[in-house]
Amino acid sequence: MTEVFKGSFTQQEPIPEAGIEAAMAVLRHGRLHRYNTAPDEISETALLEQEFAATVGAKYCLAVASGGYAMATALRAVGVKTGDAVLSNAFTLAPVPGAIAAVGARPVFVGVTEALTIDLDDLEEKAGAARVLLLSHMRGHICDMDRLMAICEAAGVTVIEDCAHTMGAAWNGVPSGRQGTVGCYSCQTYKHVNSGEGGFLVTDDAEIAARSVMLSGSYMLYERHLAAPPKEAFDAIRYETPNISGRMDNLRAAILRPQVADLATQYARWNERYRCLEDGLRGTPGLTVIERPEPETIVGSSIQFLLLDWGAADVRQVLARCAARGVELKWFGGAEPAGFTSRYDSWRYAETPAMPKTDRVLAGIVDMRVPLTFSLEDCALIARIIRAEVSAVFQGQSTAAE
Ligand SMILES: *Cc1c(COP(=O)(O)O)cnc(C)c1O
Repeated sequence: MTEVFKGSFTQQEPIPEAGIEAAMAVLRHGRLHRYNTAPDEISETALLEQEFAATVGAKYCLAVASGGYAMATALRAVGVKTGDAVLSNAFTLAPVPGAIAAVGARPVFVGVTEALTIDLDDLEEKAGAARVLLLSHMRGHICDMDRLMAICEAAGVTVIEDCAHTMGAAWNGVPSGRQGTVGCYSCQTYKHVNSGEGGFLVTDDAEIAARSVMLSGSYMLYERHLAAPPKEAFDAIRYETPNISGRMDNLRAAILRPQVADLATQYARWNERYRCLEDGLRGTPGLTVIERPEPETIVGSSIQFLLLDWGAADVRQVLARCAARGVELKWFGGAEPAGFTSRYDSWRYAETPAMPKTDRVLAGIVDMRVPLTFSLEDCALIARIIRAEVSAVFQGQSTAAE
């Protein structure tokens, strides 16, 4: 009998009861705006910022409207201006080059390796071209951060980390988002915490934190933050920093606080599922598993593998055959973006010089979400289906070539 998977790849878990109750309390009192507080009340948003800062060991944290907004704010706060070049990944999600475009700057794309991380040789070559790198840990893959930081320090490049897929991950024990000057996270439904929309920005730099708070739309109410720098940090910048509103609100913060408290449990559950899928896929002919480096602590909320140097028609066949058995895979190699864009050459508002080594990797990347609503049995079943369909197409391929 042919096995079919019946689950949904877009179904996340419900909001924890504690979050629903806290959200109802906010709805009942009606003070949703983060600065709308009763006397002696500390807003849910300020508490959330304090708790998230503690989770990643940052001095300062600002909660905002989205991950994309956090990145654009970080770029502004470190001084990126109209027309500036900003280094970034050729393989990432559209909000990353979008954040660069939002501040009127120009993305300079750096290639991707077979480990699905930024190509550090390419970065070394291009580092002189910009003062800032917006580094995306796309799909949770962390590059050799020691080498990356050394390259950027030598070239005087400020690093902003996009940790949309690495909340909870680490390199050599340092939490993702804490090696660069600023770390940005997303609370959008498909990331590691879910408030529909939302984001965080963390830093240890008081001036960048103060600027970010002002930029996000604090008016002159920044003293109501718990995870912002002291008042003096604002004195120097409060008249020269524009308000570009993108605040978090208390309803979302209420939903997020119990999720932030429970992150460690969720990371472990994601990784059990990831390792189960990885084990099931390892050794499939024609399929390359992305081996995770020893210094990397992962959060396996999605999994990728490579069908390296396969023809487009064969990759499409694998996707169609898996889909017919209920397994929804995404391919980053399609010439036309469908549903999402993750390739540099889809962002034609930026300069996109030919990157053949990157194109070869992109053409082979297959991706799958791992929602926590999947059981371990589901993951084992999904791996069996992918293994069978990849093998079938691969064998047909080699026979055709004989
Ligand atoms: C989701 C995502 C973001 C941020 O997205 P928002 O929808 O703006 O919160 C940033 N980078 C990557 C790689 C993402 O996948």
